Amino acid sequence: MALIVQKYGGTSVGTPERIKAVAQRVKHWKDKGNDVVVVVSAMSGETNRLTTLINDVNPEGSCRERDVILSTGEQVTIGLLSMALAGQDCPAISYTGAQVKILTDSAYSKARISEIDSENISNDLAAGKVVIVAGFQGIDNCGNITTLGRGGSDTTAVALAVALKADECQIYTDVDGVYTTDPRVVPEASHIPSLALEEMLEMASQGSKVLQIRAVEFAYKYDMPIRVLSSFDDDENAKSTLVTREEDVMEKVMVRGVAFNRDEAQLTLSGVPDEPGVAVKILGPISDANIEVDMIVQNIGSDSTTDFTFTIHRNDYVQAKKILESVGASLGARTCTGDDHIAKISIVGVGMRSHAGVASQMFKALADEGINLRMISTSEIKVSVVIDQKYLELATRTLHEAFDMSSGKSDT
Ligand code: ADP
Ligand code: ASP
Ligand code: MG
Repeated sequence: MALIVQKYGGTSVGTPERIKAVAQRVKHWKDKGNDVVVVVSAMSGETNRLTTLINDVNPEGSCRERDVILSTGEQVTIGLLSMALAGQDCPAISYTGAQVKILTDSAYSKARISEIDSENISNDLAAGKVVIVAGFQGIDNCGNITTLGRGGSDTTAVALAVALKADECQIYTDVDGVYTTDPRVVPEASHIPSLALEEMLEMASQGSKVLQIRAVEFAYKYDMPIRVLSSFDDDENAKSTLVTREEDVMEKVMVRGVAFNRDEAQLTLSGVPDEPGVAVKILGPISDANIEVDMIVQNIGSDSTTDFTFTIHRNDYVQAKKILESVGASLGARTCTGDDHIAKISIVGVGMRSHAGVASQMFKALADEGINLRMISTSEIKVSVVIDQKYLELATRTLHEAFDMSSGKSDT
């Protein structure tokens, strides 16, 4: 007998029929003798609908109330799934994040889980029930409802799997695993049977939204393998992807996949003094405003001044630009400019550690298509570039082709 945590995303529970189908799948796992904990998202489109409602009423409204509203989507699904299971003679009980006690910090809309009280869940499992937990939400130390950021139900599932020492964490979605790139953009993308948690971490942080980055961070930190699979495929031997320790990955490749991110914006302060302490004077106020910075580039100084460019999430663009304008004025900067029509595209693979020339192969492929690179950043297992947003699809297809991924046989 195993303890399994399963997560079903929005499309998997998007209609009453889908919810009943999920109930059937859950019952199937339970009937095989497993303990099953299920995490669900809001029904597809619901979180967007709630966001629109909020913006229609008061887009500047309090972050606390925003999370109170956003968390309701998942609450509906847990109740419905519990009822669907009862309708199939499978005893179940639902819990919101607060009822479980999924404790988080107080960073509304991007809260981090700090602790999970698993007592209720363990007792219910021992009593033979399926336990259904609302994804994407928790409660802070003062009893306020918090949410974990878009895609956060993945993180609830992995965190619960870790807390309960589950044997497996299964993420059911609308694709049958992780592909070499988003199959919606490149239909020829290849299915990946297994990849390293480190690779998935880079892919998620570079924009592959098939798993939320924090979910992969949890899995990486606590060594919890994740299996990604389709809730639309009833075949017992259906394809899936195992995201696991590097040494357990079947096939090592140089470039595992292409990830992209359309949600970034770029800001530049030019002509700032080239002296110690400038970077912190620029980025300190940005981080004080809880705005995360991604890429940073500072030019070699000339005439005792330099230019400083960085990228942030597009939602933070207006606020960050305001902050930067006032920092720029106090530093005597020449100009403060920005662009929120950029995109970041990255190639990822643990095999890059031992292969030189991957970056130049990438730059050549993009240059051959006349795509200009505005910023470049590399790590041991990835190369990222910032380009004009209008070239994103072309660049993704080009790199997928250049590294021979359609055939699923990148060089080893
Ligand atoms: P869920 O609602 O189940 O959480 P998501 O929409 O968050 O589902 O994630 C699944 C989607 O992720 C897929 O439909 C696919 O378009 C997208 N995606 C992006 N990159 C990849 C990738 N490399 N492999 C597979 N799917 C990807
Ligand atoms: N419902 C939330 C969202 O749409 C959380 C999730 O689906 O994981 O982002
Ligand atoms: Mg998701």
